Amino acid sequence: MKTFCILSAFALLGTCATTKYTTKIQNLKDSIQLVDTTLVANYAKTITAKELSTHLYKFSSDEFQGREVGEKGQKIAAQFLKSYYQSESIASPYGGSNYYQVIPESFFSNGIKASENVLAFIKGEEKPEEVVVISAHLDHLGIEDNGQINNGADDDGSGTVAIMEIAQAFNKAKKDGHEPKRSILFLHLTAEEIGKKGSEYYTNHPAFPLDDTVADLNIDMIGRVDDRHLDKKNYVYLIGSDRLSKELHYISEKVNEKYSGIYLDYRYNVQGERNHYYSRSDHYNFAKHGIPVIFYFNGEHNDYHEPSDTPDKIEYELLEKRARLIFATAWQLANQEHRLTTDANNDILK
Ligand SMILES: [Zn+2]
Repeated sequence: MKTFCILSAFALLGTCATTKYTTKIQNLKDSIQLVDTTLVANYAKTITAKELSTHLYKFSSDEFQGREVGEKGQKIAAQFLKSYYQSESIASPYGGSNYYQVIPESFFSNGIKASENVLAFIKGEEKPEEVVVISAHLDHLGIEDNGQINNGADDDGSGTVAIMEIAQAFNKAKKDGHEPKRSILFLHLTAEEIGKKGSEYYTNHPAFPLDDTVADLNIDMIGRVDDRHLDKKNYVYLIGSDRLSKELHYISEKVNEKYSGIYLDYRYNVQGERNHYYSRSDHYNFAKHGIPVIFYFNGEHNDYHEPSDTPDKIEYELLEKRARLIFATAWQLANQEHRLTTDANNDILK
């Protein structure tokens, strides 16, 4: 009986605390106002399965030799991205034709040669110093001893070409007079496959101060379907969205509800989840510095880190849908009135 009373008291306390927190969360959700909804819907449509496919068949072709960090194929990949941004008239934050952040050989070990992150950006009109980052890694595993090439179409060709199309959509909007309020950095990272070294280097030597970096939307594998979703392909895993900023989490949900209707699967976001994906791709180096992140991911499949990860196996309509969601989320972050808050500085949650 005594035990029962104690439990009841705790249960009651728990209920009170939960109710209050629930109210705060509801207030937070209610405070989110989606901006420019017609523009977002229109420019999202310029991201197409056809263009994603064209880019990806090129980026994951044998010509790129598996894009091993510091090697010839990776250099070809970096040059390909630079040429793309130049041809689209999307600038580099470094100015002129300097799109590379060179990472010296001394930063690596085990004989890895110097490599480069590739950076392009669109400057914000009202708050250019505040920057939204969209990232994906450009490197992959290179060539096997038996000569088979790891083309890495999903990993992370899918994220790479998604950014190319997202950048083009923002640039089209800009040309039509709809510049973003904040700046947007399109960040193609090298050396992810050898331990997230490209993002580690970038966050140690950021092109814009990390204090002014609003969020990182990181894309690593969004072109395929894992075994769990073979019958319900309209999904994507989101990891990390609520860790540092509940506002980011609910913005992401609201944007998805409005424009995309994708099933957002959070199973890998559970704290202590055994795969530890939260710490396994480049967003983690931003999160470590207190920057809110979302990691977009389709889960692993039989071709993961195998030479059989080829562009013919990509689901291009699905890739288009996921890329449009990320575009719309980035648009909101770049254009909403106030800068995205972290939980620590969100008055609604206090
Ligand atoms: Zn990857």
